[in-house]
Amino acid sequence: LASRDFHPEDTVIDIRGVKIGGGNLAVMGGPCAVESPAQIDEIARLVKAAGGQILRGGAFKPRTGPYSFQGVGVEGLVMMAEAGRKHDLLTITEVMTPDYVDICAEYADILQVGTRNMQNFDLLRKLGECGKPVLLKRGFSATYDEWLNAAEYILAGGNPNVMLCERGIRTFETYTRNTLDLTAIPVMKQLSHLPVISDPSHGTGRRELVETMSKASVAAGADGLIIEMHTDPDHSMTGDGVQSLFPDQFANLLRELEQLAPLC
Ligand code: PEP
Ligand code: MN
Repeated sequence: LASRDFHPEDTVIDIRGVKIGGGNLAVMGGPCAVESPAQIDEIARLVKAAGGQILRGGAFKPRTGPYSFQGVGVEGLVMMAEAGRKHDLLTITEVMTPDYVDICAEYADILQVGTRNMQNFDLLRKLGECGKPVLLKRGFSATYDEWLNAAEYILAGGNPNVMLCERGIRTFETYTRNTLDLTAIPVMKQLSHLPVISDPSHGTGRRELVETMSKASVAAGADGLIIEMHTDPDHSMTGDGVQSLFPDQFANLLRELEQLAPLC
């Protein structure tokens, strides 16, 4: 079902008038984690003012260590939904377990599968039935074929609205957090009809590389970008402040991206 042989035309996912895929650029911006109502409200305002259409933010965070901040949980879903409504933005948030799919689907417009869960098949099956679009991040050591098979689980469950997100893979290089595999973008566009989103924030782990790799992703054919932005990156509650843009950088980036492709 994910294959272009089966479905030659590009899939366009229309969420309340925001069309993802099919030529326009979707920009998802926001913090790694939802931290407080004031934080997410202010960032939502800035995403909207910059021309973004979708607010990102994690309420449930997949952390490498069990003692690290794990996200604010369900309250974060509520805070984010409120900020999205107030600032007229769609919202996207990560769901980590099948048990939480229903509640995340109740509050968010798009559900994100994180890199660590790309092959959590119970989660993928549940997302097949959730009724909401899904952004499926590539596992950090997944092949293209494994990634497409993961998408296939969601599609086979009855959910046609899947986006593929390249977020960097693990290589021998340690200067960057991950290696953003730009080649994945044209390959996925060739093999599949699903929209392809790039995540230059996790793909590089370095704020100063986000602008260049965003433009490179668009040049490579990406249908959208998911970018971390924070009003106070140095005090972000996850370690992802170093890859988060400052609000003015985010706004400048969107102005430049608009020269490359019309925003949704
Ligand atoms: C995130 O988007 O904040 C995140 C945890 O992403 P990934 O699953 O790509 O690491
Ligand atoms: Mn993050």
